[in-house]
Amino acid sequence: MVAGKVAFVTGAGSGIGREVCRILAKQGAKVIAADRNLENATNTITSLNDPGHLALNVEVSNEQSIQQAFKSAINKYLTPPTIIVNSAGITRDQFILKLSNEDFAKVLDVNLKGTFYVIQTAVKEIVNANIGIGSSIVNVSSIIGKTGNMGQANYAASKAGVIALTQTASLEFGQFGIRVNAVLPGFIETPMTETVPDNVKQLFIQKIPLHRMGKPEEVAEVITFLASSKSSYINGASIEVTGGLH
Ligand code: NAP
Repeated sequence: MVAGKVAFVTGAGSGIGREVCRILAKQGAKVIAADRNLENATNTITSLNDPGHLALNVEVSNEQSIQQAFKSAINKYLTPPTIIVNSAGITRDQFILKLSNEDFAKVLDVNLKGTFYVIQTAVKEIVNANIGIGSSIVNVSSIIGKTGNMGQANYAASKAGVIALTQTASLEFGQFGIRVNAVLPGFIETPMTETVPDNVKQLFIQKIPLHRMGKPEEVAEVITFLASSKSSYINGASIEVTGGLH
């Protein structure tokens, strides 16, 4: 249900984004792996063993970088991508009283403004090409955007913003046939969570009803479902993939 479509995936050099590329490609999509780390994005594409995919160096907090990436994509595929997955994200954890302006702004710039830039650039191209119907945007938020988390004020605010951005985009783009949804992962085994100390990990795991962390493919499967026409009447939704953690 994604076969033959072109997909643009940010944060594709690692973790959840890399798994999304793998599953979309397995299901027949042409995948553009976009990441600020070109070597990692290239490794994602190389592992797919198909010259039809593309790796691009993209800094999502830089509008020009995104516009350039879409130009390159349209050059190669002669059409804008109609599956967009915003998985690029960062953390800069600190308690509010110690959180620097710089770390607050950096996380908002990448996680929220980056998602906005990609959505705006993609939808302009999709609408210009008149191929909105069947297009799908999936934004990776976080359960932390709903619950908050100590030491993650910047991250929680950015991810709450992604939920609100998703809802608003779904209202504005329904007229073009473009769906916009968010996934809210819980605690997932990726490089992002590798640095969490073991004792803190154990505390979190105890609170998860399934008593384990999630795997990146368990999130990527849901993202692929939302990207595909199998979810054709799901729009403006935020789907939790948390093992039951709220
Ligand atoms: P990850 O393994 O760190 O992957 C994130 C990827 O995004 C990395 O390749 C990273 O590059 C890239 N990236 C970061 N900033 C970028 C930028 N400005 N422009 C382009 N690419 C950029 O993390 P992940 O766990 O897969 O996270 C994917 C998404 O899921 C994120 O939005 C994250 O907030 C969200 N999420 C994760 C969890 C979890 O438990 N892992 C839970 C909830 C939500 P570098 O390697 O160079 O940083």
